[in-house]
Amino acid sequence: MHRYSVEEGQLKGYNDNILYIIGEIRKKGWFEMESEDKKINDLEMAKKRTHKILITDMAIEKVPLIKYREIPESEYLMLQELAKEVLMVSKNENDSNEVALTYSLDYRNLIAEGKEFMGVALGDEHSVDPCMNTVAYHLITTSIQCVVIVLHNHPSLSKFSLEDVKFFLSNGTVKMMVVVTNLGNISYLVKKENYSRKKAIEIYNHAVNVHNEGNNIRDYQKAVFCFLSNCHEANIVYEDR
Ligand SMILES: [Zn+2]
Repeated sequence: MHRYSVEEGQLKGYNDNILYIIGEIRKKGWFEMESEDKKINDLEMAKKRTHKILITDMAIEKVPLIKYREIPESEYLMLQELAKEVLMVSKNENDSNEVALTYSLDYRNLIAEGKEFMGVALGDEHSVDPCMNTVAYHLITTSIQCVVIVLHNHPSLSKFSLEDVKFFLSNGTVKMMVVVTNLGNISYLVKKENYSRKKAIEIYNHAVNVHNEGNNIRDYQKAVFCFLSNCHEANIVYEDR
């Protein structure tokens, strides 16, 4: 994977699209809703013993252009802008806490049909539920398989959480999840064409079972690491940039 530069004007069509889309989401404003108290297990508690990094303009600037595996090249620039947008919203509207941006890869058709194609949800320091936004909820629950992309930030700079992985596996409509840290680093999980949900759930359950006895942050990280290092067997690509 290499970063690459984009000739001025070369991707003008995409740029216009991105500006339109960003304009649309800004126009609508953001919806914040308190999520219900969730059940918190020991591993969850462990995760919370980490602290928040405040987002700077420099972190937003440095969000890289990534050649995402399994994703059409036409989306790379869009994804870079949207990852920046997540940090921008988090910084400006949500005290550097978690923000989830959900959109459909089918946005060109959705736009043509006058339909909603993107939603933003604001969370707290340790979690965000993308579905708290009604458009995101609609996209995630009603889209065809593997067409939705969810991007969210991690204030504590951690990589994927078990909850993120669970969300990714639970929702067949979700093709890719991107985590951008508050310093602008990116990691992502994406399902390949021959993705096996059954195998993925096996790997997830194994990871959780093996490490569930523990209740500290290291056990939590081990469980996540266990899933991330084995998920290729279920034809999921994990990359940490
Ligand atoms: Zn997360």
